[in-house]
Amino acid sequence: MMIDLFSDTQTRPTPGMREAMARAEVGDEQSGSDPTTNALCERVAALLGLEDGVFMPSGTMCNLVSILVQTRAGDEIIVDDQSHIYNTEAAGAAAIGGVSVRALPTRVGLYTLAQAEGAIRVPQRTAPRSALISIEQTTSFSGGTVWDLGTMRAIRDLAHAHGLKAHIDGARLLNAVVATGIPADAYAAGFDSAWIDLSKGLGCPVGAVLCGSRDFVTEAWRWKYRLGGALRQSGVLAAAGLYALDHHMDQLAEDNANARRLHAAIADAPGLAFDETAGQSNILCFSVAGLGVTASAFAAACLAEEVRVRAIGEEMIRATASLEVDRAGIARAGEVIRAVADDLAARR
Ligand SMILES: *Cc1c(COP(=O)(O)O)cnc(C)c1O
Repeated sequence: MMIDLFSDTQTRPTPGMREAMARAEVGDEQSGSDPTTNALCERVAALLGLEDGVFMPSGTMCNLVSILVQTRAGDEIIVDDQSHIYNTEAAGAAAIGGVSVRALPTRVGLYTLAQAEGAIRVPQRTAPRSALISIEQTTSFSGGTVWDLGTMRAIRDLAHAHGLKAHIDGARLLNAVVATGIPADAYAAGFDSAWIDLSKGLGCPVGAVLCGSRDFVTEAWRWKYRLGGALRQSGVLAAAGLYALDHHMDQLAEDNANARRLHAAIADAPGLAFDETAGQSNILCFSVAGLGVTASAFAAACLAEEVRVRAIGEEMIRATASLEVDRAGIARAGEVIRAVADDLAARR
């Protein structure tokens, strides 16, 4: 049996979720008359403490629409160099919004207030206009690191003081919420746009909800429509989101605990190197450079033992806990990763 730690995007809808989807009351989302989608948007907006929300087919579209609404062509946005926006959104901000992306160098996806301050352009004719700054809570490609609330707020306030919008890519914001006990609305307060993904740890097949002020959401709707993202009987999908918010929050806590358990199981395996922030939420990253192999070779050796992890770049391995892998699966994955490391270390 494959133990799949590739990503929490691998989560499949549970029987209870499928039942909720089958029972969903539906209408026409594009005209604002799908009751289940409306209920989900209200629920997530309340959760984030923001005025309004709009259902989106994906988190990628949430990021793109947030950028399109809050910038104009020729503007610059500020992100971290490990971010989803910078690395895996096919340069949508540039291709569709005509926006350039300034990626701040980071170790684990966290930039500092000083870095943000240094990156905001002094207004002048020859410079792009700094328009938006984005924080990824938690960080995706750098180990599920959790941003500190005080730093987020300081960056938000700095952005506003310079006329920039502040955005949260909250694909896994709820993993941070269950890790820290800090409520989602405390994280999102005062941000101009924020969203959560339904299709990661929450286990839904499709969807995300993008929130902000009423005016922001009105404009977000225009861009959603232009991009072809308006839907019809999306209540079938929204019902999965409502079900997940009712039933899967405990699962997120279990996922975080499983990543911690995996960390404990392999922390002293030979040749593996962990950042001091490792294991803060449901993602565990480690370097295999000390074993003299590439990350993809290491991942292939794990896969041969039916443990699927993801190679990120040349030397990092990412293992992500989700409802697809229970505690016994995590224990088995720990044994396999350790055995692979032992074997490679012995051959050096
Ligand atoms: C997955 C992810 C996205 C994109 O979400 P999709 O629903 O897969 O389009 C954006 N940002 C982060 C941090 C993510 O992990």
